[in-house]
Amino acid sequence: MTSLGPPDDTGRSLDPHLRRYAARAAGMTASEVRALFSVASRPEVVSLAGGMPNLTALPLDSLSTEIAGLVSGEGLVALQYGSAHGLPELRDQICEVMGLEEVHGHPDDVVVTVGSQMALDMVTRIFCDPGDVVLAEGPSYVGALGTFAAYQADVVHVGMDADGLVPDALREALAACERAGRRVKFLYTIPNFQNPAGVTLAVPRRAEILEICAAHRVLVVEDNPYGLLGFDGQTYPALRSMDADNVVYLGSFSKTFAAGLRVGWALAPHAVREKLMLAAESATLCPPTLNQMIVSRYLATHDWKGQIKSFQQTYRERRDAMLAALEQHFPPGCTWTVPAGGFFVWVTVPEGVDTKAMLPRAVTARVAYVSGTGFYADGLGSRQMRLSFCYPTPERITEGVRRLAAVLSDELDL
Ligand code: PMP
Repeated sequence: MTSLGPPDDTGRSLDPHLRRYAARAAGMTASEVRALFSVASRPEVVSLAGGMPNLTALPLDSLSTEIAGLVSGEGLVALQYGSAHGLPELRDQICEVMGLEEVHGHPDDVVVTVGSQMALDMVTRIFCDPGDVVLAEGPSYVGALGTFAAYQADVVHVGMDADGLVPDALREALAACERAGRRVKFLYTIPNFQNPAGVTLAVPRRAEILEICAAHRVLVVEDNPYGLLGFDGQTYPALRSMDADNVVYLGSFSKTFAAGLRVGWALAPHAVREKLMLAAESATLCPPTLNQMIVSRYLATHDWKGQIKSFQQTYRERRDAMLAALEQHFPPGCTWTVPAGGFFVWVTVPEGVDTKAMLPRAVTARVAYVSGTGFYADGLGSRQMRLSFCYPTPERITEGVRRLAAVLSDELDL
């Protein structure tokens, strides 16, 4: 007979395996984004919640021809196991992609992963023991916070302003951890078009942040899925381009090509690469061969840079629609960031409004967002929300913001 967990308040038994889970499973809880998913995907709800890329511009016909050709012509390779390192030709191409942000990595130091999410998991797995500290921007990417929690690492948030992570705040956080005798393993940062704040780390701050981390012997994990999605085509030098020895760079084809293929990568300092690869091997044996071949073929045969330009244009139009609607409809006292790229606007609402408590009322009014609390490990964020402009059309964005403004005005008794 299985040992049953305590009954919940309806008298039903909870998960009968409750007592069996490892301690680390306690840190695995559904993120606020996931909890919202089913409600937010109802057609009558305008979802400003999810971060799904807009794929409508992809050349599906020519892609399906390429994919069919891969299976018929190279199926015995495409459908076979591969190496945990990833396909050599794809790793070469990844180096070319990273070159656009001044990163000059060696293909041997690239490890192909199942999305950059898996790379995040691998990095945390090889570096963090329970109780170790990970520094992360406050707010930060919910999927990374989930990974850090799963490995029982403690997140200490570091403040940001309109120019990204604040160097003095980083110094203070490191000093406080040192005073408390805490072991800081790495700084996790999203320098470009940050998720969820939408801000970008100013270039002069980049060298400063690297110097601070090097001086404190703290590794930098640079997560850069949005770097090529600057609305004016602008790019910034990656942190990895300024310090090859102390930065693990994470990249992804999810936002620049196709998220469903789940192809991302880590570019690690040479000394780290072997451990990353062993961790990846024990998790998945190898990344999916066919998917890697599809990405590789796409990069070789399609105008991928032109495709990225068209994504930039689409997202710029949507960002503009969101900013115009916020300006026109949102009540006084609300402020928001103005992203120069990426998917997200970060809104701060007046005192007295709790964005988490307000969410069910917003959903009743047929609009969804993510409350800011999902992006902090320490309970902050109840006066913030993340609005995504990547997926809905400009018209739907305008309508969604209008609905949300009405809910906010109600909350504020306007
Ligand atoms: N990092 C950040 C900052 C993200 O926003 C995302 C996806 N939303 C990921 C990593 C994971 O991306 P993927 O696994 O699809 O590469």
